[in-house]
Amino acid sequence: MTDSRTCPRACESHSDDERSLIKRSERPDRPEEACGVFGIYAPGEDVARLTYFGLHALQHRGQESAGIAVGDGETVTVTKNLGLVSRVFRESDLDSLTGNVAIGHTRYSTTGMSTSWENAQPHLSAIGHQVIALAHNGNLVNTHELREDLKGNGIRFRSTTDSEVIATLIGHYTQAHNHIREGIRETMRLIKGAYSVVLITENALYAFRDPYGIRPLVLGKTAGGHWVVASETCGLDIVGAEHVREIEPGEMVKISADGLEVELAVPAEKPSLCVFEFVYFARPDSVLNDCTVYEARRQMGAALARSAPAEADLVIGVPDSGVPGAVGFAEESGIPFGEGLIKNRYIGRTFISPTQSIRQQGIKLKLNPLRHVIEGRRLVVVDDSIVRGNTSRKLVQLLRDAGATEVHMRITSPPVRWPCFFGIDTDSQEQLIGSAMSVEQIADHIGVDSLAYLSLEDLVGATGCAPDEFCLACFDGAYPIDVPDGIRKGKLSLESCEEAG
Ligand code: SF4
Repeated sequence: MTDSRTCPRACESHSDDERSLIKRSERPDRPEEACGVFGIYAPGEDVARLTYFGLHALQHRGQESAGIAVGDGETVTVTKNLGLVSRVFRESDLDSLTGNVAIGHTRYSTTGMSTSWENAQPHLSAIGHQVIALAHNGNLVNTHELREDLKGNGIRFRSTTDSEVIATLIGHYTQAHNHIREGIRETMRLIKGAYSVVLITENALYAFRDPYGIRPLVLGKTAGGHWVVASETCGLDIVGAEHVREIEPGEMVKISADGLEVELAVPAEKPSLCVFEFVYFARPDSVLNDCTVYEARRQMGAALARSAPAEADLVIGVPDSGVPGAVGFAEESGIPFGEGLIKNRYIGRTFISPTQSIRQQGIKLKLNPLRHVIEGRRLVVVDDSIVRGNTSRKLVQLLRDAGATEVHMRITSPPVRWPCFFGIDTDSQEQLIGSAMSVEQIADHIGVDSLAYLSLEDLVGATGCAPDEFCLACFDGAYPIDVPDGIRKGKLSLESCEEAG
């Protein structure tokens, strides 16, 4: 077993100072993605390079760390590090990762220290003499109790992630039953929360998804007949794989020399795909539950134009996820669409943050306005969400400074009133502006001429999916899975805790 811990670059590429810059307080004012996972079983192909491309397509789901694990028939090797996919892997890393089966991961931490190498995935562990690697998207709600049980049995942990807990449980029950699929089944019975997991041994790929299907996971096939799994269909497209279907809630698939084997490992519960995948997380060219994300976002904008029209000269979207909504708003309202904001796409999580004094000079790290488009115009500005409100406020000021005469903000989701416990990094409830203020107060706070949100009904309608297929808890507080008191109290206000029982 080798891994990139032994590579000097892994130790040298991030100074402690740089690591300390990646603080929760500096995270942007919107719900942040969880993670992206990818897996491929393709003997005779360059599985590490294919995984590398798959991770590029899933980079939007996590920019803090990236990793690839490869099984070569004898063992499993991992290379991982902090930073963007393009920064973590060199040509020589990929050349040395040879094998038949691979998984990869892009990480945005919602549990554990974001800056720890140990917390980067895939997570490598041993079951007796067998090495496995595991990568996880989602968040468990009973990690603490499971960790305490395992620690009570003398098991030590290297990282602070729930992914390590999953790997440890699988190892424990695989040894008890001498059968890895039974190890995964037993683990799926015990863990609670959101999980879309890929795992490899030296010669097989496994993928499994929680019984509610909160985070996406899709299955595809290449023209050469090789199976691929990915968080989103854009991860299949990039390696030329055709989307076959979703990995169903509660399902486990095994892909090996014996082909594809599918089983329902735990009974499926009420389907609860995170609706925020449609609003913001997923790439617009991905397809979720047979619905195209771009089209859903366009329909969200069109619905807003009907429910909350505005007198304006131009519709602009806040890149990237607000743009399809702006297109839909423009088409429905007849107001011209224009590009008014340019996004700097190359800022990862581990970039060097500006100092406070540089910040005060008004640098525009992420968005720059196109003054000649905006000046003298009454704008409809379409964005996907408002979480704390501080970014929206700065954005409105940016547009006014660039000469906008009116700013009418339209949001393609309802107010976020409840925190997420399933792998999305939203604040505690009192920090959510939608929970603390009325729509009028928010409009005042961010300094717009008018503000309107999409209704929950119109949001679900825009996806084209069945209304009962989603987790909508950010908006209505109806969590699909019981969240233990200890976790709930950390994020919910006292009143809401009582309300939620
Ligand atoms: S609580 Fe919100 S962000 Fe979390 S899974 Fe449900 S809809 Fe998605």
